[in-house]
Amino acid sequence: MKSKLLKWTMRLTLLILLLFGLLVLIVLNPALLYSTNTQIGKFTVYHNKALPAGIKLRLTDADNIIVTSEFYDTNLKFDICLNDGSPYPALMEVFLGKAFALGFTSNKIALCGNTDFAANTMKVNGRKWNLTQLIAHEATHCLVFNELGFWKSNPVANNPLWKWEGYPEYVSRKHLNHLSLKQNITSLTEAIKKDKDQWGIILADSTIAPRTYFNYWNMMQYCMDVKKMTYQQVLSDTKSESLIQSEMMIWYYPEE
Ligand SMILES: [Zn+2]
Repeated sequence: MKSKLLKWTMRLTLLILLLFGLLVLIVLNPALLYSTNTQIGKFTVYHNKALPAGIKLRLTDADNIIVTSEFYDTNLKFDICLNDGSPYPALMEVFLGKAFALGFTSNKIALCGNTDFAANTMKVNGRKWNLTQLIAHEATHCLVFNELGFWKSNPVANNPLWKWEGYPEYVSRKHLNHLSLKQNITSLTEAIKKDKDQWGIILADSTIAPRTYFNYWNMMQYCMDVKKMTYQQVLSDTKSESLIQSEMMIWYYPEE
C-alpha cells in the first residue's frame, strides 16, 4: 500500500514538473503559439494575421522613449506578442494576472487588449490607452528585469508597487503636457475632488491612466526630478511609501 502511494506521488510530481517545464518552454518561445513573426529593428513581432499598419512607427517611438531610462541597454532585443488570434497573451494573463499588456522576463511584451496601431490606441472595456506609451511602459519593465535579474525583480523580490509601476510610468509618460509635477498633482487632486470613486484619470491626449499608477508616477517624478535620485537609489531607499507621499505633498504646499 505504502509503495503504491509512493509510486503515485512520484508520478504526480513528474507530471507537475513536466507541465511546468512545458509552460516555461511556451512562455520563453512565443513562436510555438504564433503562425509567423516579422523583424522590425530590435523588435521581433509575433502575429497570426497581416502585420498592422503603423506598427513600425509605434515601436520606433517606444524605443525612443525608453532610451531615456538609466537601465537602457542598446543590445536588448524585444519580442512583441500581438493579440490577433494566438492564445499566447491570454495564457500569459492566466499566470501573470489580468492586464492591458504585460512586460516580463528581459524581453517579452504581450499586448492583451484591442490594438489600433494606426490610431495609436489600445481599447480595453471601452477605455482608451496610449499604445506607444503602453509599449514603452512594458519595455521598461523588461529593462528593469534585465538589470536587476530574476531574484531582485517582482514578483519574487516583492519591490513596493509604487516603485515597480511608478518607474515604467515615469519613463513612458514623458510627453510635454505632463512634465510639470505640480500640475500633475493638481490634476489628480481635482479629479479626486470631482469624483472620488472613479478609477482612472483622463490625460491630455484623451487616453486614460489608472489613478493609482498616476500617483506612483508623481511620486517617482518627485524622487527623480526633485530629489535627483536615480532609480537604483529609489529602489534601495528604505523610506516608506506614505513618508515619500507626505514629503511630496509638503513640497507641493510649501510653508509660507
Ligand atoms: Zn506595469
